[in-house]
Amino acid sequence: MTVDFPTLVTALSIAGMPIAAVIAMAFIMKKSRRRGRGFWRTVRRVLLSRRVWLHSSSLLDFQYLLAGALTSSVLFSYTLLTGVGVSKAVTTGLTGWLGPHEAPEYLPIYLKGLIILGLYLSFELAYWVDHFLKHKIAFLWEFHKVHHSAAVLTPFTNLRVHPVDTILYLNIQTLFIGIASGLIQYFAGDAFSLLSTAICALLFAIYMALWGHLQHSQFWISFTGLAGRIFLSPAHHQIHHSRNSIHFDKNFGAGLAVFDWLFGTLHMPQRHNEHLRFGTEDDAHLKQLVPSVVYPFTRATKQLIALLPKGKSTSEILVHESLQEYDRTGGQREWPPPGTVIQTRQVQ
Ligand SMILES: [Zn+2]
Ligand SMILES: [Zn+2]
Repeated sequence: MTVDFPTLVTALSIAGMPIAAVIAMAFIMKKSRRRGRGFWRTVRRVLLSRRVWLHSSSLLDFQYLLAGALTSSVLFSYTLLTGVGVSKAVTTGLTGWLGPHEAPEYLPIYLKGLIILGLYLSFELAYWVDHFLKHKIAFLWEFHKVHHSAAVLTPFTNLRVHPVDTILYLNIQTLFIGIASGLIQYFAGDAFSLLSTAICALLFAIYMALWGHLQHSQFWISFTGLAGRIFLSPAHHQIHHSRNSIHFDKNFGAGLAVFDWLFGTLHMPQRHNEHLRFGTEDDAHLKQLVPSVVYPFTRATKQLIALLPKGKSTSEILVHESLQEYDRTGGQREWPPPGTVIQTRQVQ
């Protein structure tokens, strides 16, 4: 059986949109009833806002959608192949280290449920780690900033992602799911086949496509209390996009808030719409498709160069050595030595 991955990925995104639309409709019905406003009037206000859909930020989202469709399909195929490679390497490593393990012929349903939960948690943890790194490492932020530069959020903003951002995400996801899958293969063998793992990963991807579209909508669907500590609602992710500095580097999760809760990066949304402003500062280079793909490379390179250790100038070294000599001789030598240029910058 062969699977046409580009078609599959497109299908995932297309499948996610109507499901997100159904949830959005349910939300609008609830909202229109509460406000005593007609359903279609609310639809027009919320869904067909010219201010949102014809905003220059949304138009850039559409361009990213078209440009990214093919590349992400190719990368998705790559992810599945390398994921199988990582899984096999882990199984081989464990066999070499612990010896062969006799896998059970059959697994009870609760154990299969636990395995699926474990796989899902590794998927979510991979997402959190990847997202955290992109916010905390300056040169990675230059690529991730493309996604955050959206000044209005539409379901298409989910696809406004720089290719480097996508490549890094898929590699981290491959590593985490591959390791989890290798552990499963070693301990459960064919009782939980590699195909079952791949199907689970695919289901997570469908779920993420659906949830991601909703998270980037105009809908303030907010989970608070314990539910808001476990699940990451669309309002949580809108806070992640907020321009308000108290919201910076918060809510890194995908569908779960538990890792944000665990690692202290959770910011709970309020029940009622907080009317946030979105976008980034210093992002004039991210307003059009081609510059927004090219410029992050130059800016990231500058960030990398800034990380290199700075050498000392010859005169700085001279002053430093002369100072040491002055200290050694208990101030006997003439200071400053004749012809030395004194630097105002302190030498470490
Ligand atoms: Zn982010
Ligand atoms: Zn986002």
